[in-house]
Amino acid sequence: MSETFFVTTALPYANGPFHIGHIMEYIQADIWVRFQRLQGHRVHFVGADDAHGAPIMLKAEAEGVTPQELVQRIAAGRPRYLEGFHIGFDHWHSTDSPENVALSQDIYRRLKAAGLIYARPVEQFYDPLKGMFLADRYIKGECPKCHSKDQYGDACEVCSSVYSPTELIEPYSTLTGAKPVLKTSDHFFFRLSDPRCVAFLHEWLEYPGHVQPQVANKAREWLSGEGDRALSDWDISRDAPYFGIAIPDAPGKYFYVWLDAPVGYLASLKNYFDSGKARANGELRGFEEFLTAADTRQVHFIGKDIIYFHTLFWPAMLKFAGAPYKVPDNVHVHGFITVSGEKMSKSRGTGISPLRYLEIGMNPEWLRYYIAAKLNANVVDIDFNPDDFVARVNSDLIGKYVNIASRAANFITRHFEGVIEYGPALEALTQEARWVAGQVRESYESREFGLAMRQTMTFADRINQEFDARQPWVAAKDPGRRAELQDTCARALYGFKVLSVLLTPVLPEVSGRVARELFGLERPLRWDDLLEPPSRVNPYQHLMTRVDPKQLDALLEPAETQTDTAKTAEPAKAPKASPAPGAAAAAKAGPASQAEAVPATIAIDDFKKVDLRVARIAAAEHVAGADKLLKLTLDLGHETRTVFAGIKAAYDPQTLVGRLTVMVANLAPRKMKFGLSEGMVLAASGEAGGPYLLSPDSGATPGMRIS
Ligand SMILES: [Zn+2]
Repeated sequence: MSETFFVTTALPYANGPFHIGHIMEYIQADIWVRFQRLQGHRVHFVGADDAHGAPIMLKAEAEGVTPQELVQRIAAGRPRYLEGFHIGFDHWHSTDSPENVALSQDIYRRLKAAGLIYARPVEQFYDPLKGMFLADRYIKGECPKCHSKDQYGDACEVCSSVYSPTELIEPYSTLTGAKPVLKTSDHFFFRLSDPRCVAFLHEWLEYPGHVQPQVANKAREWLSGEGDRALSDWDISRDAPYFGIAIPDAPGKYFYVWLDAPVGYLASLKNYFDSGKARANGELRGFEEFLTAADTRQVHFIGKDIIYFHTLFWPAMLKFAGAPYKVPDNVHVHGFITVSGEKMSKSRGTGISPLRYLEIGMNPEWLRYYIAAKLNANVVDIDFNPDDFVARVNSDLIGKYVNIASRAANFITRHFEGVIEYGPALEALTQEARWVAGQVRESYESREFGLAMRQTMTFADRINQEFDARQPWVAAKDPGRRAELQDTCARALYGFKVLSVLLTPVLPEVSGRVARELFGLERPLRWDDLLEPPSRVNPYQHLMTRVDPKQLDALLEPAETQTDTAKTAEPAKAPKASPAPGAAAAAKAGPASQAEAVPATIAIDDFKKVDLRVARIAAAEHVAGADKLLKLTLDLGHETRTVFAGIKAAYDPQTLVGRLTVMVANLAPRKMKFGLSEGMVLAASGEAGGPYLLSPDSGATPGMRIS
């Protein structure tokens, strides 16, 4: 039976470029989508930027642009990644769109009419200087339990205590440094604890296939208040100033970004329908008719960090909003990607830059295959291991797959002018292909991609073994064995065609070339093609190169040459050259003692390249094993940086905590023996001694630009 799918990935937050975790999720979803299409199903695969919320508002403000401009700039960078890795979204939209405003407000009104929305006053920290309520992440202070300084408003990173921001000792706003005051405001809540919601969610979680069993267990724990989060109603409103969607009939109130973000799936779908693109993809129904149709399946791919939103709030919102909204049919949850066993960090210098991967000329289908080979249907982390990557890609894709075509096609084109003819045992091979394909199909369907790749490669092994055992290179020298030679190569090429069909969801580019160039088809491969032994082959053209381990070195080389980070919003114009000048000086607290040798003049534009910022020293500590260095944690308002500074001789770390200084904020990060140094503090020194740290005049606050 043919089904129609509406498939989404989690919406990326529009404050920075994609990281490898995004790409992994998109590749997973894209493989599944391509597989479904190969099975004859119609799929509408849509994405969008998650544009709202305080972080984007504040980042835009800091950059002196509007949030819309910031979001647009980020969105403009998306196609490079998506096209680069052959990720075939049918449509890409934004949560900051008229469709999302209309749908979010409509869903809200329906939930309100159903008695699931109420208001109550909430007392919360407020930054009197900034004139805004502060989310926990914008408040720091001393931990009430272990008295560590500069801990965030919700939990202590030192002793792991969880508390509310009001329990912090000497709290301060990370936005302005001001002491926050408690202020009361009415908030709107979604009544998740309503017995109707709880009953519905239990039922929804129970239904086989809606979510993986381990995800259902976690969600049920939350529902019954036994998990690490007790079940409570959901605060869905935020006070102005906020970049978001206005709550109807509530001046100054906005939807919390997490309410309108998943509605963005529907907003993107609606825009896709209204723009005529769905029609161009063969979907003749309208948006609402499509959503309510019995054969429509709504499928979300998400990471394990957002299970709470997607298995509780989101299905409940849709259920009680009523038709045309439908509850998700599947929420597929995946784990994270680690690199050589290390968790990806948001700070610089770890992880893999997807853009760099493309820029150094690595083949995107290598990564697609490697990720496919690692994925299964469970919520487990997968590891990118460079040696494993090289071995697997070279052994499987080159050694087992591509080699079959390169070896067999040449005999057929040279000796038989490209005409393929089979001996008597063809039927058995067709049966075998059918049987293997059945297994692989089941694995793809259940998102056991790793298993699908193993089954495919087992078949490739079989084809290679037969080819080698029949030694066509020997038969090629004996005119009496022409038929045998032709059959040997014919069977190998048929096997290769089968493998190409099975790998189509993972290697769309190679599969397309195989169809066109090798077998002369004027269309992409179809699943049925695996039952069609080819009758002609064109001369083999090179399909894929081996991975050179040096490429992995280039991909993973220390972070100073990479700028594709959350900080630089624009996809890297990667200065791939040598380490940034002055990086070494980062360890020395500045251009000390070079005052005598001041160079010739520079232009103002040269100076402007240096991003000097006021930084608050949030923590300072000795570094075990380092004679000259102190490890400084610098608060820049919206982010913190770690800098190793060569000022140990002149300063006792305790006296530094809390004081303001000046840092170079856009210095390429430098990997040092003791960790990553993400900038440089400025200090003066000369014959009279030093180093003397620079300080701004009073009134300056962390993050201020110095010019
Ligand atoms: Zn603590």
